[in-house]
Amino acid sequence: MDTLVESKVTLKTPAYAAKAAKAQLMPWLIERREPGPHDVLIDILYCGVCHSDIHQVKNEWGGSIFPMVPGHEIVGKVVQVGDHVKKWKPGHIVGVGCFVDSCRRCEACRAGEEQYCEIGMSATYNGYEQDRKTPTYGGYSTRITVDENYVLSIPKGIPLERAAPLLCAGITTYSPLKHFGLEAGDKLGVVGLGGLGHMAVKFGHAFGAHVTVLSHSPGKRDDALALGADDFLVTKDEAVFKENANRFDFIIDTISAPHDYNAYLKLLRRDGIMVLVGLPDPTPLSAGPLIVKRRSLAGSMIGGIRETQEMLDFCGRHGVAADVEVISIQEINQAYERMLKNDVRYRFVIDLASLKSGAP
Ligand code: NAP
Ligand code: ZN
Ligand code: ZN
Repeated sequence: MDTLVESKVTLKTPAYAAKAAKAQLMPWLIERREPGPHDVLIDILYCGVCHSDIHQVKNEWGGSIFPMVPGHEIVGKVVQVGDHVKKWKPGHIVGVGCFVDSCRRCEACRAGEEQYCEIGMSATYNGYEQDRKTPTYGGYSTRITVDENYVLSIPKGIPLERAAPLLCAGITTYSPLKHFGLEAGDKLGVVGLGGLGHMAVKFGHAFGAHVTVLSHSPGKRDDALALGADDFLVTKDEAVFKENANRFDFIIDTISAPHDYNAYLKLLRRDGIMVLVGLPDPTPLSAGPLIVKRRSLAGSMIGGIRETQEMLDFCGRHGVAADVEVISIQEINQAYERMLKNDVRYRFVIDLASLKSGAP
């Protein structure tokens, strides 16, 4: 296997960066490497705004690397390929998700689960290349150089701005529903109707499950039903937890803020599974709700390259795409504030033309 190709860092690339934890994002010039023999250079068209971008800019998970150029829901056009690139040609419409490389040798990588690379995957931003010293910068920028094996094909027919969020919100919800075996007719609870949650509703519906959204926002009821949910419960009402005890086969929890896991676990039937994908600050957990009905609690992180392509192809076949609000890069700080106020339906997506037009 080839290791990371050392190449001259020469491509000056406009970007938006946070210079320090909690700082506003501002224009910043980064350098992308010239494509090596196995690399493709991608002109970025759209990049989704994930709540993980906010957690990391605010250094809520610790260890954030600054300056930081967030963005891991990237869709763009291939503009240049290295001599040995087999899969891609200039003009191809492609995606890049949450990681741009991994060790390629460990058991997880060999199993196509690069996101769990035992050596450590190279996150698309707020990480390092496999050399462990070159920082990675994400999709709030006009172009990116990526090894061809970490690039996805975007199926024809999905509007590109609506495809971008599939690269994180899409795969993060598709993967656990598949892995833990959601079946047609199962009763699925989707907790939190944001970027991830609205994709979970769409996938649950497409898989034939009976989908119930559990939301702390009463105003999202009509949207939830329009997105494909069969039922909608407002979790601000304590009685909801009693009335729906033991109801669900499967719960996917996408909430970005601390909340009571125990209350949601009690909504599972005997042997039911709750999968956490939201990553808030530490949240208390009791053994009781798990023990009394042999319930399972699991977590899941994005998905591997093979499964991400499978998910994209599924979306192409079934007409699944994110509901988005397209913004300019200059609106990114407001977009973060709006996300924190729960004011997004259901994913902000940056049109990178706004960064190419010359305006700062
Ligand atoms: P988002 O669009 O901001 O949605 C989060 C949703 O959580 C909100 O729409 C809201 O839904 C609910 N929520 C927010 N604050 C709440 C509160 N105080 N109490 C109860 N509910 C609250 O975020 P996202 O982009 O979907 O990301 C969600 C989480 O998943 C984040 O923590 C993110 O870092 C994480 N994530 C994990 C992975 C992974 O691989 N596991 C990948 C991507 C993202 P309602 O209004 O319906 O209640
Ligand atoms: Zn994400
Ligand atoms: Zn590995």
